[in-house]
Amino acid sequence: MTYKEWFESHGKKHRAVMERLGDLGDDEVIAYFRFENMVEQEPAFCPLYQMNKKCHDMEILNCYLCGCPHFRFDDHGFYKEEEKTVYSYCAIHSAHGGKLVSKEAIHQDCSRCTIPHQESCIKQHFKRDWFEMMADVYKISN
Ligand code: SF4
Repeated sequence: MTYKEWFESHGKKHRAVMERLGDLGDDEVIAYFRFENMVEQEPAFCPLYQMNKKCHDMEILNCYLCGCPHFRFDDHGFYKEEEKTVYSYCAIHSAHGGKLVSKEAIHQDCSRCTIPHQESCIKQHFKRDWFEMMADVYKISN
């Protein structure tokens, strides 16, 4: 699956959940997206839910901002770094982020970064439209 395919597919799933939640207030929406509730209510939202497995080891893991508004990707590559193509990076250079480096490619590694799963971060970036929240991650018209 390409980044773009994941982005579009996940955004549609997020939108479908939001449509089901209707007029629920913002704080209630954020609470609804807590991992334990999502496993129960929205089993198709994430493949990890079927295994009841969190992507990050956090007591309160919230899935509202999955992915991350600081992530940047381009399936065609942004630029070259030491002759490898950079396909994704972190716009805030999070100290918890890393790089997945192969022979020809560099991808951002967010496996040790919990920023977007913290409710304080979600409140800061909160919009009810996921695509709007992620507008800097990828331009959908690309
Ligand atoms: S390293 Fe953290 S802040 Fe940066 S893109 Fe990944 S999850 Fe977001």
